[in-house]
Amino acid sequence: MALLGATGSIGTQTLDVLRAESERFELVAIAGGQRLAELCAISKEFNVRAIGVVSERDRDELRSLVGPETEIVIGGEGLAQLAASADIVVNAVVGFAGLPVTLSALGAGKRLALANKESLIAAAPLVAKVRDTPGAEILPIDSEHCAIHQCLAGSNETGHPDVALIHLTASGGPFRGMTSQQLSGVTKNDALKHPTWIMGPKITVDSSTLMNKGLEVLEASALFGIEAERVNVVVHPQSIVHSMVEYVDGAVLAQLSLPDMRLPISYCLGSPVRFDHAWGRLDFSKNLLLEFEAPDREAFGALDLAYAAARAGGAAPAWLSAANEIAVEAFLNDQLRWADIVPLVAAVMNQYVTDPLSSLEDLFENDATARRLAHGMVPR
Ligand code: NDP
Ligand code: MG
Repeated sequence: MALLGATGSIGTQTLDVLRAESERFELVAIAGGQRLAELCAISKEFNVRAIGVVSERDRDELRSLVGPETEIVIGGEGLAQLAASADIVVNAVVGFAGLPVTLSALGAGKRLALANKESLIAAAPLVAKVRDTPGAEILPIDSEHCAIHQCLAGSNETGHPDVALIHLTASGGPFRGMTSQQLSGVTKNDALKHPTWIMGPKITVDSSTLMNKGLEVLEASALFGIEAERVNVVVHPQSIVHSMVEYVDGAVLAQLSLPDMRLPISYCLGSPVRFDHAWGRLDFSKNLLLEFEAPDREAFGALDLAYAAARAGGAAPAWLSAANEIAVEAFLNDQLRWADIVPLVAAVMNQYVTDPLSSLEDLFENDATARRLAHGMVPR
């Protein structure tokens, strides 16, 4: 197995799964960003053969911490090399930086356990091509998509004509129920307090704006080949029902479990085998309350932006994701107010020029343009 993005929230939870299933897997390659000491500790614990870092400086620093027998590779090319080197590749990198992992793992015919939704969303037409490589498969770690994957078992026809709707559940984030007026004053501290999940900072902010759910609509559409119009967002504050598939005959299948990412990670590593280690079990003898409501699409404009990007297709999802990355980064650096994140993304999307996205060069160009426009809108 290769675990790229090993030092983050998904990365460290994947390590928990590996510790519980140490007989089944050998971790051969890891990669990370800033946290070199953590990378070094992981490499020693699991005796990995190769490590990916971001820069030559990081390589030199890491070299002094690990033995000469450990290979160290650099940047996107290094990530691509590591992603082609194992049977199962976990893409737990955050943001567009995870693209080389997705493309290389699929191109090399590997199982891709995908947490990094941004790469799939931005590069959907390109990912679709490499996905046909013999042996290549995507298993979604994202809890909603992992649930849908399970509820779709038995619906094998291309385009899933037997599916009426996918119901993508959303916790609603820390600001559920707040009006636009109340939302205008929320702070970074408020946004970083997710009610049901502990995750990395970027996705936690995305959950507070509901951009995460918007991105997940695009992710579901790309993963399962179902138009965004058939993906419905439903707010479910308890995060117990991880998503549902409604079939044309009215039957609804759901996957339920406690909110713990180690379950979807285990599913993606083991499928079709289920490991007998449960990361918590639901207790139906206690008063288990499950609530569902429609999202407030006026107060949380990110959802409409995502559906519009899905309708536009081509490079529009790449623009949405890139502009959002810049806006969230600016917010985390205290350069942007929370209430200005989605309007900034909307302003970038207003300048989108239709592009079918035919090549990787084309994608990098679109990504760079959207980022440049977004940067230009961040107050100095
Ligand atoms: P974190 O911020 O916790 O972790 C991100 C990881 O990516 C870290 O290991 C980081 O390294 C690494 N990284 C950052 N930049 C680079 C780079 N240029 N090259 C290589 N590695 C890099 O994020 P999460 O774990 O929360 O999220 C990871 C992905 O999973 C995201 O796409 C997110 O949307 C998705 N996801 C996460 C969920 C969760 O519960 N956390 C749930 C569903 C999806 P370092 O820390 O050393 O800088
Ligand atoms: Mg999710």
